[in-house]
Amino acid sequence: MAKKGELSKTARASLAQRDEKDFLTARSCAKCGELIMLKELQPVKVLGAGMVFYHKQHYTIG
Ligand SMILES: [Zn+2]
Repeated sequence: MAKKGELSKTARASLAQRDEKDFLTARSCAKCGELIMLKELQPVKVLGAGMVFYHKQHYTIG
């Protein structure tokens, strides 16, 4: 049982580590034009234009 707890702790740690790592994508933000880190990527489907991408903090609903 203790071993199982250890494993899940390790798994959680590696997940957290992966989450902290930013990956720069080839997508650029439709608002500011900068490339977007994977963590910040907000894909938005636009009628007639297909997919556009925003930084999460640059995308506002409405
Ligand atoms: Zn942006």
